Amino acid sequence: MLNAVLQYLDEKHICPHCQTELTLCHAPAIHVGDGLGWGSEYLFICLNDDCSLFAKGWDHIEQQYGHVGSYRHMEIPNSKESYSMMVGGQGAFTGSIVDVEDLRRRNVRYQELKKALGQLDECVAKKDLGPVLTVLLDDSAKIDDRKRAVALLVPLNDLGCVEPLRNHAFKDEHLRHEVNLALKTVLQKHFLKECPYCAEMIKLRATVCKHCQRDLPD
Ligand SMILES: [Zn+2]
Ligand SMILES: [Zn+2]
Repeated sequence: MLNAVLQYLDEKHICPHCQTELTLCHAPAIHVGDGLGWGSEYLFICLNDDCSLFAKGWDHIEQQYGHVGSYRHMEIPNSKESYSMMVGGQGAFTGSIVDVEDLRRRNVRYQELKKALGQLDECVAKKDLGPVLTVLLDDSAKIDDRKRAVALLVPLNDLGCVEPLRNHAFKDEHLRHEVNLALKTVLQKHFLKECPYCAEMIKLRATVCKHCQRDLPD
């Protein structure tokens, strides 16, 4: 679904009736007029309530069909096709507006994730923690990919992973467990551990935490 709509994000459609920029919406399942589909999951629709087509449409439909309704100007994405679409009321389609900014953000994240996944195989050789963190910290990434990433933490042995991973709430219990184990191992390899009281990094053999001054269990 994401890929299908991304290509429309940069399209600009202007209503010929009111010169307002059209809004990208999810297409209604059924063509209100004749029962056919639109042939597109998305439509650009003029949602301007002052649009002349919409404002004059009420009387027209009343006279022609004897029921309440009006028209919105509509264009099919990536084409020159346009229609006057019959709508049942003012609120029609306002609930199905595509959140373009959210889509852009999701796309940026998706592209970063895709790039990071492609770099996972080489990141140990290149000593590059970045892709591993990108995959691990992205909750929308597939669990198998995240498990692949967590397995690279120990070979990478980079202390830079501790802070970002500690600050992330892993919802998957198994993944959280594997992250914890990997962090513990990485810290040990650097002769470090986390204080069980204040979570600061301290020397593995410390008996008193230098941050919170508490006595540490053996
Ligand atoms: Zn208009
Ligand atoms: Zn402490």
